[in-house]
Amino acid sequence: MADGPAQTTLPAGAKTAADPGMADSQVGHGPGAGDVWVFVEQRDGVAAEVSLELLGRARELAGRLGVKVGAVVAGAGAPVRALAPALVARGADTVYLADHDDLAQYLALPYTRLIAGLVRRHQPQIVLYGATTTGRDLGPRVASTLRTGLTADCTDLRIGDLELRGVVTTDLLYQIRPAFGGNIIATIVSPEHVPQMATVREGVMVMPEADESRTGEIVEVAVARADGAASAPGAASADGPILLGDADFAARIVRRVQEEKSVDLKGARIVVSGGVGVGSREGFALVEELAHTLGGVVGASRAAVDAGWIDHDHQVGQTGVTVRPKLYIACGISGSVQHRAGMDQSARILAVNSDPGAPIFSVAHYGIVGDLHKVIPLLIRAYRKKGTG
Ligand SMILES: Cc1cc2nc3c(=O)[nH]c(=O)nc-3n(C[C@H](O)[C@H](O)[C@H](O)COP(=O)(O)OP(=O)(O)OC[C@H]3O[C@@H](n4cnc5c(N)ncnc54)[C@H](O)[C@@H]3O)c2cc1C
Repeated sequence: MADGPAQTTLPAGAKTAADPGMADSQVGHGPGAGDVWVFVEQRDGVAAEVSLELLGRARELAGRLGVKVGAVVAGAGAPVRALAPALVARGADTVYLADHDDLAQYLALPYTRLIAGLVRRHQPQIVLYGATTTGRDLGPRVASTLRTGLTADCTDLRIGDLELRGVVTTDLLYQIRPAFGGNIIATIVSPEHVPQMATVREGVMVMPEADESRTGEIVEVAVARADGAASAPGAASADGPILLGDADFAARIVRRVQEEKSVDLKGARIVVSGGVGVGSREGFALVEELAHTLGGVVGASRAAVDAGWIDHDHQVGQTGVTVRPKLYIACGISGSVQHRAGMDQSARILAVNSDPGAPIFSVAHYGIVGDLHKVIPLLIRAYRKKGTG
């Protein structure tokens, strides 16, 4: 959950800004006064969606703090250079652009050296990463290099205050995520170390619209290969290039294999999901038929995935995909907190469940109590009739 020594889950007796009585305490500012940064993951000049989502939230956080938003992007040549202005349009005030052949593809050590070096130089107070394979690899390495903390897999980020033993620290990053199997939502803070860092799950924050009228600064980051240099991580002079040594390239990419996801849950306007109530792999044919009739895609609960009825790519929830479709139909899904975490922001939710007390009904806008094997064919018939009528 929280990596490194610097993170604190709000302890018993700690007060947040919402608690009364904070004004009587001794007040101090949180760690750092620098900007809010986002590490922008890119491939062939296309930014990861989660990085753009983070730029949107970074704008809100920076607005609260009265600082700027920085985006750090690395790669090689024209694709990454073309991406830089697009990041300004999505909310960055400053884009730190590191264009070097040795950064063409993500590798843990050179990228760690680059980000740690830039952080030492510019002192952002917050650095955010997508909770992707790359972000989960890079974030902890940067944290351990800089001796700061990192909260993994956040689902929300806010700015708030903390009172602990009579001392108030203002303007801290609240790093919010489910804990203990999703049974509680933990708010984790890092009051004594800078930068405050977090990885954030894809799809939990709203992607900002591109605003082509925004202006920002693109700062070229000088990077140099210092072959044979036994430089320590981040050991670059204050204004010279960031040096990458031989040791940073101990690993090399031999081949890149790309596999398409079997379903685009995140981009779907309609998701029809099945759970244990579907009863079998064959039972999913009914869920698929409803999804097909509506022009939607098929989702699933983890229990249905674990049962081997459907591929993990279809899983919605805390350890699956977070979706926000126009319509989410939950069929035979009880509505555990872990499932709801991935779908409760849907514009409209229809639940079909034989148990009127199922928790899914607490987030559903429309509910049908009944056996899904009877209800779904009726829905299919009704939608088809509407489509042809
Ligand atoms: C760390 C952690 C992470 C997790 N991550 C996820 C996640 O990402 N996504 C996720 O979904 N779960 C996740 N889970 C699992 C979660 O806790 C639940 O176990 C799971 O969501 C239950 O799936 P379900 O609703 O399909 O099954 P159940 O809870 O068994 O519910 C089945 C429902 O079907 C209904 N039903 C049965 N028969 C019918 C019928 N014929 N017609 C209509 N309704 C019927 C029942 O009334 C019941 O409500 C996670 C758990 C942990 C501990």
